[in-house]
Amino acid sequence: MAGKNVVLFGPPGAGKGTQAVKLRELLDVPHISTGDMFRYHIKNDTELGRTAKEYSNSGRLVPDEVTIAMVKERLGRDDVKGGFLLDGFPRSVPQAESLDKILGELGIKLDHVVNIAVADQEVKDRLAKRATIEGRADDADPKVIENRLNTYKNQSEPCLTFYRPKKIVRDVDGIGAIDDVFGRIKAIFS
Ligand code: AMP
Repeated sequence: MAGKNVVLFGPPGAGKGTQAVKLRELLDVPHISTGDMFRYHIKNDTELGRTAKEYSNSGRLVPDEVTIAMVKERLGRDDVKGGFLLDGFPRSVPQAESLDKILGELGIKLDHVVNIAVADQEVKDRLAKRATIEGRADDADPKVIENRLNTYKNQSEPCLTFYRPKKIVRDVDGIGAIDDVFGRIKAIFS
C-alpha cells in the first residue's frame, strides 16, 4: 500500500519508539516523536519543558493547545513533504481532529494509522522493565504507570474510533520479537 504519511499508535510500552526507528529507515521520512520533543525541552529547561515536565512526570497528557502548537510548527517544515512518521501524536480526539485540520491546510492526506496492539498486563511488565534499563522518570513509579495506562484508555484509545471509519487503521500484533513485529509493520508498506 502506497503512502508515507504515517501515525504510529499504541499504548505506552507497545514498542512505538523501537519500531519507529526501524520504520523511519525503511520509509526514509522524518520521525516526529512528541515524547522525544518534550524530553528535549525538559532536558534543556525551556519554558515549554517546564510545562511539559509537570504533566509527563505524573503520567498525564501535556495540554492539547501546547502539544498541537508544537506539532503544527513541526509539520509546517519542508522535510515532511515526502512523508512523516508521527510517534505519540495524536493522543486525544481533539488532537486527532487538529491533525486532520493541519494536514488539510497543508494539502496532505494521512495514509496509515499503524496500531500496535499489546495487552494491559504485558504493557505493565514492559514499562516496569524499561524503568530499570532506561531510567525514565515516568516509568519508575507504578502509580505513574497506572496513570499513563488510564490516560491511554480514556483519552488516547478513542482516537481509533475516530480513525476506523476512515479505513486507515492498520492493526498490528505487538507481541513477539522486535523483528517479528517489524515484519508485520513492513507488510503494510509492501
Ligand atoms: P512518550 O514518550 O510518547 O510516552 O511521551 C512521554 C510523555 O510526554 C507522555 O506521558 C505525555 O506526558 C507527554 N506527551 C507525549 N506526546 C503527547 C501528546 N501527543 N499529547 C500530550 N502529551 C504528550
